[in-house]
Amino acid sequence: MSGGTRTSGPAATRVLVINSGSSSVKYQLLDMADDERLASGVVERIGEPGGVADHMAALRQVSAELAERGLGLDSPELAAVGHRVVHGGTRFTGPTLITDQVLAGIEELVPLAPLHNPANITGIKVTRELRPDLPQVAVFDTAFHATIPEAAHRYAIDAATADRYGIRRYGFHGTSHAYVSRAAAELLGKAPAEVNVIVLHLGNGASASAVRGGVCVDTSMGLTPLEGLVMGTRSGDLDPAVVFHLARVAGLDIDAIDSLLNKKSGLLGLCGVNDMREIGHRMAADDERAQLAFDVYVHRLRRYVGAFMAVLGRVDAVVFTAGVGENSAAVRAAAMAGLEGFGIVLDPERNAVRASGARFVSADSSSVAVAVVPTQEELEIARDTYALARG
Ligand code: AMP
Repeated sequence: MSGGTRTSGPAATRVLVINSGSSSVKYQLLDMADDERLASGVVERIGEPGGVADHMAALRQVSAELAERGLGLDSPELAAVGHRVVHGGTRFTGPTLITDQVLAGIEELVPLAPLHNPANITGIKVTRELRPDLPQVAVFDTAFHATIPEAAHRYAIDAATADRYGIRRYGFHGTSHAYVSRAAAELLGKAPAEVNVIVLHLGNGASASAVRGGVCVDTSMGLTPLEGLVMGTRSGDLDPAVVFHLARVAGLDIDAIDSLLNKKSGLLGLCGVNDMREIGHRMAADDERAQLAFDVYVHRLRRYVGAFMAVLGRVDAVVFTAGVGENSAAVRAAAMAGLEGFGIVLDPERNAVRASGARFVSADSSSVAVAVVPTQEELEIARDTYALARG
């Protein structure tokens, strides 16, 4: 089975984007002629009570939902399918047409992303079964970070051990950082090559990146998406010795520690909830734990903003994106407070406006712009996919 043969006609301008996670499959169908979103949806609770049985059933449901709307997988207008794949390692540094060999390559990377890559692989396999003739493209979360120089991506551990096991910083959320850094340049009225930006992708997962002239030069996530900022349920940065301490003193085994740091830490671990909206409500009711969680979250964010200002030297814009970054004026205000000495001045009224488009929230006097740019990961994946499928 080869994904390289195309049977669709020249009028095929639609791309189906599949984001197959461990317990859900999200999809969007886009028309690349005008970037219009024709359909989108999610099948949740895969393998759980009340949900569908497995990924095959989930993809069949996606296919049925699309067919009901006359947009089925068999449609001649469908040009290609784009799959989000979390880990591309050092091998996949750009969008890649999926062949049996590429699929085997993604499978080899499972040890680096045991929570994510298997679900991505299942999504690819099932979609290829449903439409074996259609070009299918893997778009990797790590790819945009492939340009990070070695001084920034190498960990200071024994070099031979690191090389042998592929231990280095890879970075994630790459499609979002790529899209948002480009869109920020556009908002500034400049070409991506002319601007330096810090992108803060603050969703349930969260990461920061430093982008110089359109090229990523540093990022907060590492070997896995656990490193860096405080997230909904992930700890972000901590002293690696915490792991030894939990094993030796608390008696936790490695899987329990993995689960503690990935699923029961971050905002959830600090105050019992991982949703920034709920934390805002609790802070308004003088909940001290919620306030502390917010403060820890913001403190970490400010550390990275400061670090990436030093990495870049000159910064044209700090850009907020994803669920928290796009919607929480309180997080933006707290993260940017008191940075006038670095040329960052937020405009409180602009920041408070609830709007959906890309916009500035800095004052006219701010020499570093602060912007909100809604991320569009599916559109970015669709563009990469379409460009490759058309050859
Ligand atoms: P994402 O992963 O980008 O979908 O972001 C999800 C997160 O965005 C949720 O867990 C919320 O914490 C956060 N979020 C969404 N809407 C708001 C809002 N209006 N205010 C604060 N946080 C929000």
